[in-house]
Parts: sequence; structure tokens; C-alpha cells
Amino acid sequence: MLPPGSTIGILGGGQLGRMLAMAAAQLGYRCHVFAPEDRPPATDVCFAVTRAPFADTDALLAATGGVAAVTFEWENVPTTAVSALAAVVPVYPGVHSLDVAQDRMAEKQFVEWLGGRTAPWAPVSSRAELADAIARIGLPAILKTRRFGYDGKGQARIHQPSDADAAWTAIGQQPAILEGMVEFAHEYSVILCRGQDGKMVDWPVPVNEHVGGILAASRLPAPPLVQAQAAEAVALSRLVAEKLGHVGVLTCEYFACADGLRFNEMAPRVHNSGHWTIEGSLTSQFENHIRAVAGLPLGPTDLVLPRVEMRNLIGDQADDWQRLFAEAGAHVHLYGKGESRPGRKMGHVTRLSR
Ligand code: AMP
Repeated sequence: MLPPGSTIGILGGGQLGRMLAMAAAQLGYRCHVFAPEDRPPATDVCFAVTRAPFADTDALLAATGGVAAVTFEWENVPTTAVSALAAVVPVYPGVHSLDVAQDRMAEKQFVEWLGGRTAPWAPVSSRAELADAIARIGLPAILKTRRFGYDGKGQARIHQPSDADAAWTAIGQQPAILEGMVEFAHEYSVILCRGQDGKMVDWPVPVNEHVGGILAASRLPAPPLVQAQAAEAVALSRLVAEKLGHVGVLTCEYFACADGLRFNEMAPRVHNSGHWTIEGSLTSQFENHIRAVAGLPLGPTDLVLPRVEMRNLIGDQADDWQRLFAEAGAHVHLYGKGESRPGRKMGHVTRLSR
């Protein structure tokens, strides 16, 4: 167990790092944030900051003096840098989790190997392979880059064969997968945390509402179809965490289809669809992640009240801060990002009720 007063390194300085650093501070830990940006959101609330590109392994290594353990809040940190760090300081989750989660093809293969069902998919590394994949998977379908996709970025929809050229160009002609379009009733996520001793906790499963590929809201209780699938989704997600040897929070996103669940993707980190746990659960995803990294026992995840809604404040929605601050019982979180831009996550609000 890391004694309070120890410093935890966080790769990435966004809002997830900010909320991790606040949870760490509550437990008496200090956070040292590594990030390439000038003043990312986490720097308002952390003990030390090193500004360096993630690919600058020497700068990261030089800054680890005094850091007792390292974690990350962004899954696209280069695994070479993380491996170099892991040689000198414990890093949680490990490189294996990153390796799998950074590549859509690897994560789908991994989950299928464990018996999980995904959308039908095929690898695409050239325009000719895209034509083959369309023939195999059928249309409509979504072309997704294997790496660096988030919030619907790095994706292009293909409705008819004549869309294929534009889609291949739109994703930058990168290694990709073609995914058949799934008819789902809902999207939901399993958020779990695995400790260094292998013990796991998972949170009640929220339904997630996306607008334009970006999470807009997470709600509990989830609709009956999601509740009916939750136990199977949790079991699969736990198996993923165990087989990865994952330590910390792991998020797995699913589609609730009429004929059962389909795994969509995973994030080896705390997740936007778990922000409601700060006020809505006995222990938040952020606290349990820090607990796992520090080698502490994990806290219980029961709901505080039966109904929870977390709504993201995207773009100019955060400009409404005066009304939000005046609303009794609205737990407002603003991330300290100066300028609101369309599609930018500026904060969130959580509301609990009976
Ligand atoms: P992703 O980045 O893979 O989570 O995709 C972003 C959003 O696009 C998802 O949250 C879904 O709303 C939608 N989407 C992704 N893949 C599929 C699919 N195979 N079928 C239908 N909708 C999808």
C-alpha cells in the first residue's frame, strides 16, 4: 500500500486526470501530471506538472523521481513510453491493457476469444480490402480507424458502395475495420475496478445516450432490456479485466440488441459514463481507481439514491453556469477549460433523486 503523502504520476492532464487528482488528494496523495498541453484541466488541482510530449520518454523518465506509481487518463499514450516507465516505477493498468485497447481490431479479437459477441467486422488495410469487406459484411456499415478514434472521430459511414471511396479518404486511408451497422435499442457501459489483489467491484450499469457520436447523458436505472443483459455484460467485462491482468478502472461499452448484447469497445481507464459515481455511488470510479493504483482495498459501489442522471455540458451548454449553480441539488462540475468550442466537453451535471 502506498502511504498517504506519496505521489502518483498521471499521464494525461484532461478532465479525467483532474477528477483523478481530486480523488487522490482526498485520500492524502499528491499527483504529478505529465501532459503535452500548456495548462490542461488537471493542472489546477495537482501537485506538480511536467509538460512534455508523451513520445519524449527521456522527459517522462526524468520526471518520475519521487513518483511512487504511475497511471494514465488517456489510452493513446505510446506503449513504448509506458514500457520504459514501467521498468522503473509500477504502472497501473499495465501495458497489456493499453496494447489491446489502443487497437479496435485487437480489442474485438480479444473479446471474441473470450466468447463475447461484437458487431460483424472485417479488417481493412487498403481500398481493395475495403471492397472485399463490404462484400462480406454488407451495407450499411461503418469504417473505423483501428487507432486514435474517439467520440465518433476516425469513422465514416458507408450506406451504398459508391460511398466507399469517400469513406476511405475521410479516415485518411489508415488501417481500419469495417463494422456492420447493428440495430440496437440502447447503449450502455460496464464500469468495473480491479485491485492489485485481483478483487473486483463493478458499478450499477447506466444507459448512455449519444448525440453526434458524443456522450450526452448517462442514466440509472437503465431500461429493462439493459437490466436484463447487465449480468452477462458484467461477467464478460470481468473476464476481460482478469485476462488482461488489468489493475484500476476498466470500461466496456455495449449495444443492447433485441437478440442479446454486443460488445462495442473498451477503455482501460475511468470513463465519462462513470462521472455520475462521484455523487451517485458510495465510492466513485476515480477514488476506486486511485485505491487500486495505491494498492488499497476497493470501496463499495452501491447507489446513494435509486435515480441518477449525469448530463454532459458540451460546447456553449456550460455558458449556462449561473442557472446551474442556482439549481438546488444539481452537482455541477466545470473542467476549467477556458474557451467553449462546439463538441468540447466543458463540464457535467449530476442529479440524484428517489
Ligand atoms: P464508437 O466510437 O465505436 O463507440 O462509435 C461511436 C458511436 O457510433 C457509438 O456510440 C454508436 O452510437 C455508433 N456506432 C458505432 N458502431 C456502431 C455499429 N456497429 N452499429 C451501429 N452504431 C454504431
